[in-house]
Amino acid sequence: MATAQVFGMIMADLILFWHRRDLRISDNVGLAAARQRSPKVVGVFCLDPNILQRDDVAPARVTYMISCLQALQARYAEVGSQLLILQATPDQGIVKLATALNAKAVFLNQDVEPYGRARDRTVAAALREQGIEVCPFWDQLLHAPQEVTTGAGQPYTVYTPFWRNWSSKAKAKPAATLTQASGLTEKEQELARAAGAIELPTAKDLGFVRTTPLVIEPGEAGASEKLAEFCDRAITDYQEQRNFPAHPGTSQLSAALKFGAIGIRTVWAATLQAMEQTRSDEARASIRTWQQELAWREFYQHALFFFPELADGPYRQPFKNFPWSNQDDLFQAWCEGRTGYPIVDAAMRQMNEIGWMHNRCRMIVASFLTKDLLVDGRLGEKYFMQKLIDGDLSANNGGWQWSTSSGMDPKPLRIFNPASQAKKFDPEAEYIREWLPELRSVDTEELVSGKISSFERDRCGYPDAIVDHSIQQRLFKEHYQRQKAGSDGE
Ligand SMILES: Cc1cc2nc3c(=O)[nH]c(=O)nc-3n(C[C@H](O)[C@H](O)[C@H](O)COP(=O)(O)OP(=O)(O)OC[C@H]3O[C@@H](n4cnc5c(N)ncnc54)[C@H](O)[C@@H]3O)c2cc1C
Repeated sequence: MATAQVFGMIMADLILFWHRRDLRISDNVGLAAARQRSPKVVGVFCLDPNILQRDDVAPARVTYMISCLQALQARYAEVGSQLLILQATPDQGIVKLATALNAKAVFLNQDVEPYGRARDRTVAAALREQGIEVCPFWDQLLHAPQEVTTGAGQPYTVYTPFWRNWSSKAKAKPAATLTQASGLTEKEQELARAAGAIELPTAKDLGFVRTTPLVIEPGEAGASEKLAEFCDRAITDYQEQRNFPAHPGTSQLSAALKFGAIGIRTVWAATLQAMEQTRSDEARASIRTWQQELAWREFYQHALFFFPELADGPYRQPFKNFPWSNQDDLFQAWCEGRTGYPIVDAAMRQMNEIGWMHNRCRMIVASFLTKDLLVDGRLGEKYFMQKLIDGDLSANNGGWQWSTSSGMDPKPLRIFNPASQAKKFDPEAEYIREWLPELRSVDTEELVSGKISSFERDRCGYPDAIVDHSIQQRLFKEHYQRQKAGSDGE
């Protein structure tokens, strides 16, 4: 145990644990290590204006995050310590606080995003200059990026071989929960306040207003409940049910995983337990399919770690100078869910209203924006970030590049036909009717095929289709072939 002697008393060294995407005290690798090092562990979270003042921040995401922080403060109080809140850039705030409190070390879990990595390098250098140790860990992934590479030591750019390698590796068990720690004395709390520690503001204080309920209860308890509910109910039917947006066939754990309200090792352990509890091959295949989604999450995080340039644009050459039309009226119609294609509009309205969209529909609307409206996927990617509770650079960027066919994927031209998608995945138009209430009385076949008469559209106040899918997909293919021929010749 690290200690120091002050006035003859043995004082434990103070370790600051800097939370970012790990808003929990259970199964938190860096926090467990901090507690092993010293009994005096205090948490800190920095409300970073470099992130909060960007123009792609969703009110749902901030609301969820602030409520998670509130829950985390309560958890710290239960175990005898505190979670401090700063509102500053971390290179100022964290360094000032750690110095003022005479912290021995700052422990943290690493990030894969370019901004986070640059931020951490700057803060670590400044802390070390003050003689404060910095101890980084990997927590948000089952396998750190360097652990899963090809035989030649290169990062994977195709998912299937990545999955084969990733799934063959032993997975860590959940890290120890913080059950007891000593926090700051009254005097130290005063010092912390003088160094910038504030009361936790509300999302509204920060300028983010959210009126509709969140799809997931914030905090560790909410995330654990969702996981338990999913593993009890839907995980064994996931393979079949996950594609039907009208049915609650997926976990809705994405925001909890993004902000680390639950540890990934805990999630993995739950899948193993579900696997043990079933004797049915079908159920086991379903659980395996869900594990594959967790691996997609890691695949995209590794991709961003090794190829940070993905954040700025396409991976594949033919898309680097693609002649997107970027027509603003078409983009606005897509954003607002008034393209005249019911499945597309239902999906956009779902996201606009509740800050979450079903995965099948994310693929449909992304394909529609890029391949039907010929709008650059980066605009859609940003719009998603402005709305989603789970908006996350690596998963969103990966999903958009997959849907645009501009990313790391060998199949280049995946074009979704909205009518075929609706017929297959919303055959009774339940999802369409839920999110487009003005169309509730329209015949199912018309809703699914999108072939709604002008008279019906007028009657319901629903717009005409803004483009013709068959013409647009031909146009997209022509552009693509030209770009491909150009880039093959380079
Ligand atoms: C265009 C597009 C944009 C997307 N943007 C995001 C985003 O910003 N944030 C986000 O978390 N996911 C994103 N996804 C992936 C996926 O749609 C969501 O993770 C999923 O819908 C969340 O619902 P769920 O928690 O019920 O998922 P489940 O089906 O229960 O899956 C479990 C978990 O696995 C992960 N996961 C599942 N599918 C994917 C995937 N394709 N890529 C990466 N991780 C995955 C998520 O963490 C998810 O919570 C996007 C997909 C597309 C096609």
